[in-house]
Amino acid sequence: MKSSGFSRIFAGVACLAVALLGATFTATVPNAEGDAGSVPSFQEFERSSYVDVDGAYVVNGDEVESTKAGLKKFYERMVGPKHADEEGLIVNTVSGRDDKWSASQALNLTYCVSTRFGTRHADVVSAMAGGAGLWESASTQVDFVHVPAQDGSCNTRNNNVLFSVEPVSTTQYIARAFFPSTAKRSRNVLIDDSIWSSGSWEPVDILAHELGHALGFRHEHTRPESGTCFEDNNWRALTPYDAASIMHYPQCNGSSADLEFQASDAAGVRALYGS
Ligand SMILES: [Zn+2]
Repeated sequence: MKSSGFSRIFAGVACLAVALLGATFTATVPNAEGDAGSVPSFQEFERSSYVDVDGAYVVNGDEVESTKAGLKKFYERMVGPKHADEEGLIVNTVSGRDDKWSASQALNLTYCVSTRFGTRHADVVSAMAGGAGLWESASTQVDFVHVPAQDGSCNTRNNNVLFSVEPVSTTQYIARAFFPSTAKRSRNVLIDDSIWSSGSWEPVDILAHELGHALGFRHEHTRPESGTCFEDNNWRALTPYDAASIMHYPQCNGSSADLEFQASDAAGVRALYGS
């Protein structure tokens, strides 16, 4: 936590997760003395959920559920019985299956960068390329492809790209992303202006974290080894736990404050998509 800017952002990122998860924490963390009375109803949970610009619900700090039905499923997983889990990188699972792109799609992950970023457009293009490059240099089976021709109509309705990168104005997060299983209408990376003043978290690394979600990776800190910030058990371990993973929030007992890409992250993307 080098700067006050970092602390502010840090609080901003953390607060949503705390607001969303705090109420269910006692019911879902292993060995916690939770009781049924501490579990909010779905209605209470929904009211406490942050709704994004396009009507999607933001969960786990910077991930998205497109619909109320999706939020309900998320809620049910949160409050449901905990199932056993064993084990830096973990992949999201949906109904027990890895949430990942097909081999051919992974080699053509097209995106646009909205011209609505204005004077920051070139900076976003550059930071996206840098963030994507960290994953791409770890695996030849993953390729993010910027399609500049679509930048002028860059939104979730543009079917010429797999996803869009768009500006947002919010105090809820710096940036947020989606998973491969996310419906096209919510398949965007939203970036708040605070990305340019996030202290020791560089824009390239923040976007690499978001693109990690876009590849299917979950927050490393949901693993039991972190001892905090539990989300749910719908994931599969790809590598041993790494408290310094780029997918691990530093404020969740992370061992690194600067959100840098780690060897474990490289190993994880190779484990899921190939080298
Ligand atoms: Zn995240």
